[in-house]
Parts: sequence; structure tokens; C-alpha cells
Amino acid sequence: MALARIARNAYRRHGGAMGTYTCERDVLREGASAHRCHSSFGGNITTFNQNVIAGGKLSFLSRIRTLGGMNFGSRGIRTAPQCQFAHAQTAMVESDLEYENPKFPTLEATKPGEKPRVVVLGSGWAACRFLKGLDTSLYDVVCISPRNHMVFTPLLASTCVGTLEFRSVAEPVSQIQSALAKEPNSYFFLASCTGIDTDKHEVYCEAVGDGRLSQEPYHFKVSYDKLVIASGAEPLTFGIKGVKEHAFFLREVTHAQEIRKRLLLNLMLCESPGISEEEKEQLLHCVVVGGGPTGVEFSGELSDFIMRDVRQRYVHVKNYIRVTLIEANEILSSFDVGLRQYATKHLTKYGVRLVRGVVKEVHPNKLVLSDGSDVPYGLLVWSTGVGPSTFVRSLDLPKSPGGRIGIDEWLRVPSVEDVFAIGDCAGFLEHVGRPVLPALAQVAEREGKFLVELFTRIGKQDGGRAFSAKDIPLGDPFVYKHLGSMASVGRYKALVDLRQSKDAKGLSLAGFISWFIWRSAYLTRVISWRNRFYVAVNWATTLVFGRDNSRIG
Ligand SMILES: Cc1cc2nc3c(=O)[nH]c(=O)nc-3n(C[C@H](O)[C@H](O)[C@H](O)COP(=O)(O)OP(=O)(O)OC[C@H]3O[C@@H](n4cnc5c(N)ncnc54)[C@H](O)[C@@H]3O)c2cc1C
Repeated sequence: MALARIARNAYRRHGGAMGTYTCERDVLREGASAHRCHSSFGGNITTFNQNVIAGGKLSFLSRIRTLGGMNFGSRGIRTAPQCQFAHAQTAMVESDLEYENPKFPTLEATKPGEKPRVVVLGSGWAACRFLKGLDTSLYDVVCISPRNHMVFTPLLASTCVGTLEFRSVAEPVSQIQSALAKEPNSYFFLASCTGIDTDKHEVYCEAVGDGRLSQEPYHFKVSYDKLVIASGAEPLTFGIKGVKEHAFFLREVTHAQEIRKRLLLNLMLCESPGISEEEKEQLLHCVVVGGGPTGVEFSGELSDFIMRDVRQRYVHVKNYIRVTLIEANEILSSFDVGLRQYATKHLTKYGVRLVRGVVKEVHPNKLVLSDGSDVPYGLLVWSTGVGPSTFVRSLDLPKSPGGRIGIDEWLRVPSVEDVFAIGDCAGFLEHVGRPVLPALAQVAEREGKFLVELFTRIGKQDGGRAFSAKDIPLGDPFVYKHLGSMASVGRYKALVDLRQSKDAKGLSLAGFISWFIWRSAYLTRVISWRNRFYVAVNWATTLVFGRDNSRIG
């Protein structure tokens, strides 16, 4: 039937000029037999495999398809003809966008004798901590994420001005969990999850094709035994007009690259003859919106860059560059009051203008505050916290106060079986009686670690398969203990607040020793020895030679 449909569609596509088929027998890696068939349509050669899978079902591969480093054809992923057969695709009438569509290529449910499959959505702090610890003798694992690396976010601001190189803060997922690269039934898929069917235990995905695939958008399905959602959060813009279009966010390495490029471009443009004073002031006005730790750290890095590097290397324009930090309330509101005062004094001393205000709208070269005043800028970085992502909002799952995926004390999504959520995308349900935890790497990491232990316990009691963990005792629930907060403020100074909560008593330090603690703590937290080495070398190089100011790309 399927063969007939391919032929029919190909026939239509080629105006009825059917060619001839020649087949040769092939044996796929799994031992299933296959035929590689060649068809010739009026001079165009199209090859496809007729793949006989273990269960005896027939499916068709137009060719072995490689997608962002993964090979669909060779590792037992069942595909339907029209998803792989480009010519037939164009002639199909049915919509490929419906999740119910049985034609999506599918990584099918695990079979008896195979290890249960854990599907992890995301490659951030929570997902990577979970992946790192997961016992792969108990589970196969599939990680689905639009990026193939984890970002070490606490040091991301340092890459924007060249204190650190970008590669120093990016950790490839396959190095965090080697099974993803080595195990025959474990995969990393470069894709975004677009939907979940919790009854069928399937996730629906769209590959990050980047224009490289013959069909885009390219959708596929993955069946899971257990699902871990760790898809993070999105920057909050409060619906303010123009933010998404004109401001930079700082969450990904690509964001840091864009910020660095814009900063260096503006500096170099201002050197050109004939640029007016007014334009120089606008181009070299760096505005940061949001006085939380990220906004403050970025402002501190910028002021450091200006004091040390711009003054030496951009002598003609050094007097035009300024940094303004706009915050609606107080900066670093979660820190101890003494530390807040220290940060305010320190930033002001090193040239950061602190403005209390609310942004009303953002235009290409200026923003407007709610008091009506205009703030021209050449670089605008938006850092006002995070909220639930569009993906999380779209899921038909219970939600915590604030709209994150609602979880219980064991990080399960209680109304559905075999689904867990961790990190910035998850929050305790109201009836659990615990507050939603802050969007922090230390929360995400701790939740990932807790889930590792839970999965080991479940796996060892044969509860790894779908719908099989209901009666397994889960042990103690997750408890979060805050270890404190740190933020660097530039010029070898930082804040360390070791209080467990905002109102608790505890040690708080500011100054050079704190800066040393900040650096040492993060150096030890960097995931791999390779990146730890990069970070240490980058810091030493910057100290001795100054920051790299080449504008590449
Ligand atoms: C600049 C910066 C500095 C920070 N500094 C600190 C700090 O010093 N200390 C601290 O505790 N916290 C810090 N944080 C906060 C911390 O980084 C976050 O709380 C943490 O990253 C949350 O981890 P997560 O795994 O939940 O989400 P993330 O790390 O954001 O990861 C989410 C992952 O999900 C993927 N994803 C998104 N949508 C989908 C989808 N539809 N399908 C599949 N995958 C998807 C993303 O690509 C990403 O890989 C900082 C954050 C930033 C931005």
C-alpha cells in the first residue's frame, strides 16, 4: 500500500513519467533486512530503503537521513514514506501539522527486553545535572533540545566583553552524558518539543533544520517510558512594546556573541570621521534594564571593560562611552541591605549611572520611561527576570502559581503518569503548600540531582517502564536548602550573601575577598576539566594582556 502511495505521488510529481526500479539487498545495523531501491524518474535518481523492522511492520526511508549529527536511518527510527520521500511529500493532501498524524517519523515505544527510555527536554542546568547522573545501565536516554550544549550562565556576562571566550561557558551535552553519543538506543535530537501526549506517552518535536533539510518544518515523534521536562523559562518583557525587537537578552551564548559584536561595532563606528557628537553619545550609551544579579554583573563587566580596555584602546572615543542601569525598584533586592548599599556605591564610583524608572516603550535607538523622558541608547540589554515559556504555557498540564508546570514534592506532574518537571519551568502546585522556588541554577541543579536518585530507585524496582511505577515507594521528598547568593560587581569586587533566605540572619561579605570566593566557587562549578582549564587560562590572559577586542563574525 505504502509503496503504491509513494509510487503514485512520485508519479503525480513527475507528470506521470514513471521510471524503473532496481533493488539491491542490504543489511541494517540492527540486523533487519532492507532493500535499497533506485528509481529513475526522467533522469532524476531517487533512492530509498525499504526497511523491515523487528516487529514485522513495513516502513520506508527515502535515504539515510542525517540531522544535526544524528542519523535517523541507521538506528531503528521508523519513518513513514511521505516524511522522507521528498517528491511524494509535495503531493500529499493530509496536513502534517497535526500531532495525531501517524505519518510523523517515530522513535517507537520500547519493547520487552529493551531498557526503558527516559526522554529529557532541554539541555540546561536541570537537564544536564540529571543527564550527568542518570544510571544508563538502567535506562536508555534521549535528550531533545534546540541547542547541543549547556550554558554555564553565571559566567555568561563575562563573555560579552571578552573576559572569557564563548567556548569556556558552553559544555557539549554528549560530554556530560556520553551514552548520548555512544549507546545504540540513546540519542541527542537537535529539536524543540512542540507538544506532549501524556496518554500515548509521546512527545512531538520540530527539528532545528536551519534551512538544511529538504522538508521544513521537520516534525517527528518520540515515545517515552519516563519524561523529564527541563525546558527552562523565557525572559519577561511585560508586553512592553519594542523590547523583543530592539533589546538584547542575555541567556544564550549566541546572545553574548551578538552583544559583543554590537558593542565593538559601536566603538569602531564612532572612530569614523564625521560622526556627530550626539550620535557618538547615543551609540556609546549602553543601557541595561533590570537590576537583578544578571543586570548588575553585566553592568559591572561593562564598567570594567571601559575602565581598563576602552580607555587604552579606544582613546578617541573613551569619553563618550557610558553605562546606565535602569531598575524600577532597588537593585539586587534579594541581597542583604548592606550588600545592596555596597553595590550601589561601587557601581556609581566606577561610572555606572543608576536610574530608578519604569520603561514604557522601546524604539530602535531610544527607550521611553514612564515619566515621559527619552533615553537614547546604542546597546540595550534587557534583564528583568524570567517567566513561563510559550511552550510551557501551551501544555495542557496543571500549573503552579505563576504559570510554571505544577509539580509535587517528588517533582512529578501528579495528574499524569511518568512525567516529571525540573528547573525554571517547574513550580510546586498550590496544594503542596510550598513556595515556588526561585529561578536559579542551584535550584535546577539540585532538582536534577534529586531526580537521578529517584530514577535509580524506580529503575532498580522495575518501575522504569511506562505505567509501571505507581506502587513503588519514592522515598523522601525533595527539600531545597538555599546555599546563598553571589554577584560580581566589577573591578575585582563581588558580593557574597550566605543567608538562607531574605529575612534570615547569616554571613554577608563584599569586596575583594568576596570576589576571590566568587571566582573560586564558579571555577569549581564549571562542569568539565576542559572548560575549567579554559576559564582559568582566559582569566589569566585577560589579567596580563587585557581583553580580546577582535570583532569576529
Ligand atoms: C546571565 C545569567 C546568569 C545567571 N547567573 C546565575 C547564578 O550566578 N546563580 C544561579 O543560581 N543562577 C543563575 N542564573 C539562573 C540560571 O541560569 C537558571 O536558573 C538555570 O539556567 C535554570 O536551569 P533550567 O535547566 O531550568 O533552564 P535553562 O538552563 O534555561 O535550560 C533550558 C533548556 O531547555 C531548552 N528548551 C527550551 N525550550 C525547549 C523545547 N520546547 N523543547 C526542548 N528543549 C527546550 C533550552 O534550549 C535549554 O537547553 C543565571 C541566568 C542567566 C541568564
